[in-house]
Amino acid sequence: MNDITSKDLNEIEKVIGEYGESKFRAKQIFEWLHKKMVWNYDQMTNLSGLLREKLKKDYPIGEIKILKKYISSLDGTIKYLFELEDSHIIESVLMRYKHGNSVCISSQVGCQMGCKFCASTIGGLVRNLTAGEMLAQVYLITQDIQERVSNIVIMGSGEPLQNLDITMRFVKMINSPEGQNIGQRHITISTCGLVPAIYQLADEMPQLTLAVSLHAADDEKRKEIMPIANKYSIEELTKACKYYTEKTGRRITFEYALIEGENDSIEDAKYLGELLRGMMCHVNLIPVNKVEERNYKSSHSSSIKKFIHQLNAYGIQTTLRRKLGADIDAACGQLRNRYIKERGE
Ligand code: SAH
Repeated sequence: MNDITSKDLNEIEKVIGEYGESKFRAKQIFEWLHKKMVWNYDQMTNLSGLLREKLKKDYPIGEIKILKKYISSLDGTIKYLFELEDSHIIESVLMRYKHGNSVCISSQVGCQMGCKFCASTIGGLVRNLTAGEMLAQVYLITQDIQERVSNIVIMGSGEPLQNLDITMRFVKMINSPEGQNIGQRHITISTCGLVPAIYQLADEMPQLTLAVSLHAADDEKRKEIMPIANKYSIEELTKACKYYTEKTGRRITFEYALIEGENDSIEDAKYLGELLRGMMCHVNLIPVNKVEERNYKSSHSSSIKKFIHQLNAYGIQTTLRRKLGADIDAACGQLRNRYIKERGE
């Protein structure tokens, strides 16, 4: 792997060792890349010209640039489209909250999971992102807004637990004191429910926040909207979630997109209430974002109210997600699809 932006400090030390340079050069390089967020060897002024030339040749840094930027006039949410070195396009979102700036990043180009209501999966999976490409989304946004990013949610396009190694590498690197030093507690990973990876995450990164996209509380309904439900039953999924809460002492967030006539009845709410009763969790209800290519509609506000009321009766904490950036297509994968369509691909 000659991608230096995805290498941790130990790995850069190895590179430097092979060059016969002193070890502290590795820390300098790591800090340029991940603390100062400078991805250009020419600007790494404390390295010798010779070392910079070697690095340029052996470890070229791929260019990632902001292709487009859409600013919501409603709430200051900014949606970014980035172009990667191989000209694939990904998207990220900056959300501004009272408690700080939060960035939602993508983990893959496209997605293989096939959820029926989701725009990211329409063209299938193109490729995984590298840890460096995940980091670049955060760095480019930080530089663009000239403010610190305090929270990260891996909830953009892609399934982050399909490549747990890459996702964990990203977390460790963004966590690093020689880098941005963003604590695990400020990072949320969202998954459609890859059960074995949930166990692994609970064991290896117990301080992260886990969000699980549930969207239906019985298997048959879930299978209709989420193909992953054919692989793992709700029973297996909730068992893994309980293991997670017991092992980590951390509350899980269940995401539930309300789709009119599909999963938003009182019966659905009762099912969900029964399933989650007594679990250390929180339900995040999201009125489904309309996706042009799909015919799902968001639930009426009257059904949403009844749904929340029913869940509360089971003692389950519930929030209705505020729609941020409603004027700029801020839902998963929508912007990339529109851009690609307009470009005529
Ligand atoms: N693959 C991961 C992360 C990416 S999707 C996962 O499934 O969790 C991020 C979240 O957006 C998921 O909860 C997903 O179900 C939700 N989502 C996708 N399309 C949506 C839409 N049209 N309306 C509302 N939520 C949507």
